[in-house]
Amino acid sequence: MTSVAVLGGGWAGILFGLEYKLRKPNARVVILEKQRTVGGLLRSEKINGHLFDIGGSHVIFSRNKTILNRMLEIIDDVLEVPRKSFIALSRHFVPYPLENNLNALPEEDKIDALISFLEAWKLRPDDFIPKNFRDWIHNFFGNWIAEKYLVPYNLKIWKRPLENIDVDWIYTPGRLPIPDWRDVVRSAMGQLTIGYIEQSRFYYPRYGGIQRIFDCAMGMAYRYGVRYIKGYNVVSIKRVNDGWFINNEIYCKKIVSSIPLNELVKLMEAPEHIIRLAEQLDYNRVLVVGLAIRKPAPEQHWIYVPAPDIPFHRYAWISNYSPLNAPPGRSTLIVEVTIPPNQPVNAEKYVEETLQGLEELGVVKREEIIFVKAWLHEYGYPVHTTTSNRARSEVLHWLNEWGITPIGRWGCWQYWNMDKVYEDIIEKSSF
Ligand SMILES: Cc1cc2nc3c(=O)[nH]c(=O)nc-3n(C[C@H](O)[C@H](O)[C@H](O)COP(=O)(O)OP(=O)(O)OC[C@H]3O[C@@H](n4cnc5c(N)ncnc54)[C@H](O)[C@@H]3O)c2cc1C
Repeated sequence: MTSVAVLGGGWAGILFGLEYKLRKPNARVVILEKQRTVGGLLRSEKINGHLFDIGGSHVIFSRNKTILNRMLEIIDDVLEVPRKSFIALSRHFVPYPLENNLNALPEEDKIDALISFLEAWKLRPDDFIPKNFRDWIHNFFGNWIAEKYLVPYNLKIWKRPLENIDVDWIYTPGRLPIPDWRDVVRSAMGQLTIGYIEQSRFYYPRYGGIQRIFDCAMGMAYRYGVRYIKGYNVVSIKRVNDGWFINNEIYCKKIVSSIPLNELVKLMEAPEHIIRLAEQLDYNRVLVVGLAIRKPAPEQHWIYVPAPDIPFHRYAWISNYSPLNAPPGRSTLIVEVTIPPNQPVNAEKYVEETLQGLEELGVVKREEIIFVKAWLHEYGYPVHTTTSNRARSEVLHWLNEWGITPIGRWGCWQYWNMDKVYEDIIEKSSF
C-alpha cells in the first residue's frame, strides 16, 4: 500500500517526494502527474538548437540563503549571472529597478520622479497600512513611478483593477520589498545603487534550461525510491476507512496535493458551498511565445513592458541565461502574455500582436525570425484579490479537516516562486 500519494508532478510534487523520503526512507511515495511530460511550469523544450523554457522566463534566486543553497546543490552545473534587466519606458530602456536608476531617465522625468517619490515618503505616516495594491504603489513609489510604470505594468500582468488586489503577497511590515529613499536620491544624482540585492544576480542551469533543476531533483527522488507516474490524470478521490482511493485504483494513507485547489475540491466531491468558494479563487493563464532568431541577443536578460498598447508584459533573451540556449550567432527569445480565465483564446492573434509589439519596440524584425512557437498554460498566475484570499482560507480550512496537505503554487493558491514553494514544503514534509 502506498503511504503517500502526491497529486501533481511539478516542482512542488517532486520536492515533496524527495524531502519526505529523506525523512521517512521506508515510506512508499508515488507522484501522479497528468501530463506525459514532467516538470509542470519548469518544462523546457529544445527545437533546432534553440532552448525554450515553455512555462515562461525562469531564473533561480532567493532571499533565503538556506533555500537558495539547497536549490543550487540540486543542479549539477549551474551558472551565476549578474542580472541585466530593464523597463521599456516610452520605447527607451531604463535599468531595473527603476527607483534605483532614476539617473537613466531624461532630465525632466528624473526630477518629477524624484520629487513625487520623496513626497510619497514625506506624506506617508509611519504606521501606514496600504488598503490595496494601487494604494501600496502610490504611497511607496510616488505618483510618477506609479503612473508611468508600476500601475500600467501591473494592470497588464494582473488584468484586474489594482484596487481589488490585496497586498498580502508583497507587503509584510518589517519585510520590505521597498526602496530606501537615500538610495533613490543617490541614484538620481548618478551614483550606482543596486536595489534589491538578492535579485541583482541569478542562477541558471548551464545545460537543459530551467527544466534541468527539475530533472536533477527527479533523479535524486528516484534514487531514494520515489515513484513517478506520468500521464496519470487524477479524476476522483474518495475517502475509504482510514485512507483514500484515487481513481478507484490507487489506495493510499495520505494525500498531498499540488494540483489547482479549485479542481481538487471538485474531485473530492466537496460540499456545494466549498465548490462555490473555490470558484472564487482567481488566476490568469499565461501564453508563452518563443522565437528563434538569426542574430545575437543584445546584452539584456529580461525587459518589463508597461506600454498598454503592447500585449505582452515581459520578454526575455534566454540565450543570455546560458550560452547553450541557442546556436552560436543566434538567439532565443520568450515573451509572456497573461490571459484571464474563461475567455476564448485565439493564440494566433496573440502571436501576431506579439510580433507586431516586438517590431514596434525595435526588438526584432520579421525577417530575423527563424520560427515561432507558443505554449498556453491554463494556470500561470494566482491572483490575490481580496475576495479570493478569503475564499482560499476557507477552502484550505476545509481541506485541513480532511487531513489533505496542500503544497505548491496551485495547491496553496499563492503567488509563490520556486524558493517559497520549497520553504513551505520543508515545513510540511515532516508529518
Ligand atoms: C511566467 C512565469 C515565470 C516564473 N518565473 C519564476 C522565476 O523566475 N523564478 C522562480 O523561482 N519561480 C518562477 N515562477 C514560479 C514557478 O514556476 C512556480 O513556483 C513553480 O513552478 C510551481 O510549481 P508547482 O509544482 O507548485 O506547480 P506546477 O508546476 O503548475 O505543477 C502542478 C502540476 O500538477 C499537474 N496536475 C494538475 N491537475 C492534475 C490532475 N488532475 N492529475 C494529475 N496531475 C495534475 C500539472 O500538470 C502540473 O504538472 C514563474 C512562474 C510563471 C508562470
